[in-house]
Amino acid sequence: MKHPRTHVWKAAVATAVGGAALAGVRTATGRAVRSAPTLAAAGTGMAAGGLLAYEWLTPRSWLYGPVFWHARTSERVVALTFDDGPCHPYTGQLLEILDHEGIRATFFQVGNNVIREPNLSAEVASRHEVGNHTFTHPHLTWSRPGKVREELLRGQEAIHEATGTLPHLFRVPHGWYGPQVISAAGDLGMRCVGWSVTAWDWDRPPSDVIQSRILHGVGPGGVTLLHDGQDTDAFPKADRSHTIAAVSDIIHILKANGYGFLTLPEMMDLDGAG
Ligand SMILES: [Zn+2]
Repeated sequence: MKHPRTHVWKAAVATAVGGAALAGVRTATGRAVRSAPTLAAAGTGMAAGGLLAYEWLTPRSWLYGPVFWHARTSERVVALTFDDGPCHPYTGQLLEILDHEGIRATFFQVGNNVIREPNLSAEVASRHEVGNHTFTHPHLTWSRPGKVREELLRGQEAIHEATGTLPHLFRVPHGWYGPQVISAAGDLGMRCVGWSVTAWDWDRPPSDVIQSRILHGVGPGGVTLLHDGQDTDAFPKADRSHTIAAVSDIIHILKANGYGFLTLPEMMDLDGAG
């Protein structure tokens, strides 16, 4: 699997080269509207702007600080992560599957949902890794630093109150980081996390589609993203039955292909050792 930056830089270069080529063509035909240098410069400017916007927003952002999204390893290991819980009955069903398979995973919980289901949150934390996913699951990309800090802090408080542990991991809602989000998480002692493959299961595709998307995109050191809740909604609005139905098969097929399962901190340790 290639690092997405490879593609970004390719796109940036292609845009710049495109601008230059366009200028050349126009000049050669004698119908140049603008000079070659002007068009080439415009191409470069667009590329730089696009790159900056991508890096501002991407779940794998690196420009403003490190976001962990996979381990650089050839070992067949995967970290399963689940966002937006705890949410009855799905989180409990997931815990049963993971227990049955002898697997530990990582759950990014929403503070508001933790307050609604404190016992479920504690049950998750007793066996798995728990990360902060804010308090109300807002879009934080363009939020002021004070608002970001408040969302993260209230998420920490809710999780600490329910589980007795303080998360060291943070995943931004909706996947888009900004520099103020990364620095706020760092100030509160949390590392920012993205993912390497998701099944877009927030749109509730059929479970076989969820399964094939994950299995198609996963590789050694991969971090999968699925959902055991939805925003701050509870059952029945938050319907994660398709996701839960896909998880057992995903695990069985990965196991059959020689994969082992790590929590995110374990995956980070592996990456650091590599
Ligand atoms: Zn989320």
